[in-house]
Amino acid sequence: MKEDYYDILGISKGASESEIKKAYRKMALKYHPDKNPDDKEAEEKFKKAAEAYEVLSNPDKKARYDQFGHQAFEGAGGFGGGGMNMDDIFSQFGDIFGGAFGGGFGGFGGGGRQRVVKGSNLRIRVKLSLEEVANGVEKKIKVKRKKQAPGTTYKTCGTCKGSGQVTRVTNTILGRMQTASACQTCGGAGQVIDKKPADADAQGLKVTEETVSVKIPAGVVDGMQLKVTGKGNDAPGNGISGDLLVLIQEENHPTLKREGDNLHYDMYVSLPDAVLGTSKEIDTVTGKVRIKIDAGVQSGKILRLRGKGIPSINGYGKGDLLVHVNVWTPKTLSKKQKEFFEEMKNDEHFEPKPESSDKSFFEKVKDMFS
Ligand SMILES: [Zn+2]
Repeated sequence: MKEDYYDILGISKGASESEIKKAYRKMALKYHPDKNPDDKEAEEKFKKAAEAYEVLSNPDKKARYDQFGHQAFEGAGGFGGGGMNMDDIFSQFGDIFGGAFGGGFGGFGGGGRQRVVKGSNLRIRVKLSLEEVANGVEKKIKVKRKKQAPGTTYKTCGTCKGSGQVTRVTNTILGRMQTASACQTCGGAGQVIDKKPADADAQGLKVTEETVSVKIPAGVVDGMQLKVTGKGNDAPGNGISGDLLVLIQEENHPTLKREGDNLHYDMYVSLPDAVLGTSKEIDTVTGKVRIKIDAGVQSGKILRLRGKGIPSINGYGKGDLLVHVNVWTPKTLSKKQKEFFEEMKNDEHFEPKPESSDKSFFEKVKDMFS
């Protein structure tokens, strides 16, 4: 009698997709052959869990299994003949462990050909000011990465003689078949550890702090991920190092707001300055700039400073800095000031007379995005 797939993974029939995945991940790690060398029972459990997961993670197969049980897969294409082989199981791992399974001597291959073992990637966050985003910056970042410990030596794997694969001959109804699969001793790397210092881990690696220089180009966007090749964790032996993935975080600027490659600045002008004209110093990402406000400026006017925005990450031009003019109206007045405005109230000169050049707010917004 074949064991129930749900029982094998230790879950209930109503388990969700993520519960199934979680249960299998736990089993795969517990019974992984690298953790249980030469343990036939663990290997059997490992294979069974993989088979159960292969069915229950596939909505179509799961539905068939839920209805018909193991009978659903009997006959052609079923698991009747001894379950999945190890290569199938390990190729399933990309999905389960996000491609960074570090269980043994690096990765395990499909196909059985010797493959280059790659160390796992590292991820870090880097906070950038708007000025750094606009101008590009080189950051020195301290990274804790696994490196091959000094004194670790590797030797050719005795099982596969360094080829990383073993050839198997099986008799099938179609005749003798020769299949190559990844060597179980070295996981396909072709090398195993010869000597390692006491403070190195099972793969001969040791966590080391290193300062990595990261060149960040101008125009990066919050949430963007940059890759520094080879600055992740080392792989053992002749393997290649993983990558360092740098996640960009943009800090808020006290006066400038970013919108794509354009920047916005809210400028407040006093009533007398709006009437008489003035000049004001404002922040830009390349330093302060003095801009002239003409006499009679309207509240809501947008001044466009071409090319004072953020350079395009693709290298095509630069955004603009849009300065929004807001005329500041006092809430309280002295007696004298009040008398002044009372006197102007009936002066026809103060009647609004918008011209076509005084675009409405909506027309301005439309212009900004066209
Ligand atoms: Zn080998």
